[in-house]
Amino acid sequence: MGRMLALAARNLGFKIAVLDPTPNSPCGQIADMEITAPFNDVEALQRLAKISDVLTFEFENIDADALDQLTGNPYIPQGTDILRITQDRVLEKQAIEKSGVKVVPFEVIASFEDLRQAISKLGYPSVLKTARGGYDGKGQLVIRDKGDLAKGSELLSHGVCVLESFIPFQKEISVIVTRKLDGSIRVFPVAENIHVNNILHQSIVPARINENTQIHAIGSAVQLAESLQVVGTLAVEMFLLDQDDILVNELAPRPHNSGHFSIEACETSQFEQHIRAVCNWPLGHTELHSSAVMVNVLGQHLEPVIKALGNEPDWKVHIYGKREAKKDRKMGHITVLGEHPMEILEMLNQSNIWTEQTGDKKEKVDMK
Ligand code: AMP
Repeated sequence: MGRMLALAARNLGFKIAVLDPTPNSPCGQIADMEITAPFNDVEALQRLAKISDVLTFEFENIDADALDQLTGNPYIPQGTDILRITQDRVLEKQAIEKSGVKVVPFEVIASFEDLRQAISKLGYPSVLKTARGGYDGKGQLVIRDKGDLAKGSELLSHGVCVLESFIPFQKEISVIVTRKLDGSIRVFPVAENIHVNNILHQSIVPARINENTQIHAIGSAVQLAESLQVVGTLAVEMFLLDQDDILVNELAPRPHNSGHFSIEACETSQFEQHIRAVCNWPLGHTELHSSAVMVNVLGQHLEPVIKALGNEPDWKVHIYGKREAKKDRKMGHITVLGEHPMEILEMLNQSNIWTEQTGDKKEKVDMK
């Protein structure tokens, strides 16, 4: 994410310094300067701040207190309130409720007794999630019946959790919205997201939804960005129910995997837009040039993707430069533009690279 953000900033003429715990990180590889340090290293953050006019982040699990301690007045337009909120599912859900947008029904769980009581309210199946630290389905447990309750203790040992109703959604969709300090806002087209094993697999844009749902989804994202006084990018992940009802699942205060399509498919990419917002430039237009399908390249897909590339002139390939291609690690993505997303999906499926995502999908998807 940092790499794509830095590449966009570079195109706009900025110089880039990056702080990352890993040396030669994907962003560090293309930055002018790389500071290797943990995200909570105040001294290192101060060094970064000293040489920077603007600081931005594209990862919510960084230390908000450490950022608050920065001296020398570096400009951090996104602020740290949004970090604190999105680092904690309880605060995040309360903030969504406060904005007036509907959130997945939930209960806060601090003890096993809380869990038992909450289950009697929300019923089976429900999803238990750690309030802090989870991503891509990590730190989550589907409680399908009484027999699964005991497994909840393990998650609870990591701290406070939330219990959510299991939502039998029709589709997952997301909206990425960018807002500036002066209140100006631009929204990207709604993406339809297909997750496999709780990891985003494909985004189809425009989402195959009716116009009312589109207006509803975009309106909800704008309402949230305004309520949270976002400066920069907010990604809003939503569940679409039957009858076109929408519930918000999760927020991310940064560019998002489901917005990668915008690099090739939109007038302005989500990365350029974020840089524009935090540098107080006018926001760009976000119109879609063409329908698009984005597919993630995980560790297990990297080699076959590289082998197949020579025969795929239409694949817009992004490889992130991560050192180790571990299973399920996001190593890159491919976007394919075209009038007919269904044909693109078919073509991607025929490549046999993502077979575990398609062939035996029912076996693998444990949340649905
Ligand atoms: P999350 O990390 O909360 O975004 O969850 C990852 C994925 O798990 C989501 O994109 C959904 O596919 C699935 N999921 C999470 N929460 C629920 C829920 N309450 N009901 C149904 N599916 C869920």
